[in-house]
Amino acid sequence: MQDPFDVLSRRATRQKPFRPRCKACRTNRHVIPVVYSREIDEALLAAERAGELRVGGSARGVDAPNWYCRHCGALFQR
Ligand SMILES: [Zn+2]
Repeated sequence: MQDPFDVLSRRATRQKPFRPRCKACRTNRHVIPVVYSREIDEALLAAERAGELRVGGSARGVDAPNWYCRHCGALFQR
């Protein structure tokens, strides 16, 4: 038998992946992940154009930001 609460929580985590909140906008609605990849391919650029993520470059520094706010342009780590 299936646990209905378990199904609901799984569905919720799939629809709402964790995103930190933008400190300036006080919402995570416009926050997208910054992706660092040595090979930036067409799929990655297409996702960036779609506004799903931001390509941060090929090299990733120790304190490189992980998140980008499309609303105010802020870059932050979490
Ligand atoms: Zn913001």
